[in-house]
Amino acid sequence: MKKPYRVLLYYMYVKIDNPEAFAKHHLRQCKEIGLKGRILVAEEGINGTVSGTVEQTNEYMKIMKADKRFANMVFKIDETDLHAFKKMHVRPRKEIVTLSLKDDVNPNETTGKYLEPQQFFEAMQQEDTVIIDARNDYEYDIGHFRGAIKPEVEAFRDLPNWIRENNKLLEGKKILTYCTGGIRCEKFSGWLVKEGYEDVSQLHGGIVTYGKDPEVKGELWDGQCYVFDDRISVPINQKEHVIVGKDHFTGEACERYVNCANPECDKRFMTTVENEFKYLRSCSHECRVHPENLYVKEHQLSPEQVKGRLETLEQERSAKLN
Ligand SMILES: [Zn+2]
Repeated sequence: MKKPYRVLLYYMYVKIDNPEAFAKHHLRQCKEIGLKGRILVAEEGINGTVSGTVEQTNEYMKIMKADKRFANMVFKIDETDLHAFKKMHVRPRKEIVTLSLKDDVNPNETTGKYLEPQQFFEAMQQEDTVIIDARNDYEYDIGHFRGAIKPEVEAFRDLPNWIRENNKLLEGKKILTYCTGGIRCEKFSGWLVKEGYEDVSQLHGGIVTYGKDPEVKGELWDGQCYVFDDRISVPINQKEHVIVGKDHFTGEACERYVNCANPECDKRFMTTVENEFKYLRSCSHECRVHPENLYVKEHQLSPEQVKGRLETLEQERSAKLN
């Protein structure tokens, strides 16, 4: 059955004069249509995720394509039951993805070869190939291409340093890069080319396009794909579902992200519903006993109830040690 809402994911590297004025005007337009979401605008282009009804998203795409700068924009469309955001933001920025390079890359001038899903699927299985995940560590942890290298970075701007420190992994190899919708790879693969790597390719349209491709059907993707909206993650592989996520506390298979209930920590981790209850949705003992613990507040737990759960955990811990 068709779902009533849609999420649009899109970007374009194209010159936008006066991003501040553009953002202001664009925000008004989006609000008039009734969209919700997050859009970044910079002189180098636009990067957005918005949600709305089928009619609202159609209207937005029509307006965008009427602007000759965005006439060739590719919108990736996901069906969904609800809005995927609570508010509408359009923000002017220096970059549409933050890489903060001293020597910036213009993907319209320098970027890796574009591979369509079928080509990427075949390339992944070739000898002398390395697959580099161009996303952050927590995105990798809930799902990634089978055999892909995980750079241990929490932010995209840390990726170039990580590559320089781990260049042995890439030397003499055919390099494949991928990210959620393709925008990060446009710059990252361009940066790799500038660094002197000769055989650099990127997944055109990113993971979300790969998952919808009628031929590859998301094959060789394990887990879910992390997304930056209320859905948190979406399925990709239509043929099989291999869970790679792990519960923070027990290591059991899990694909459910929560944020630590200590507002000063707010760390993102995966845990099951049962363990969320047991561990008060807190990543550590210190976070569990934090006076502002949000889990305790939301569930209106009395000090006795909190004490009871902490004692249960302590008993389990000492039973394990014995
Ligand atoms: Zn914590």
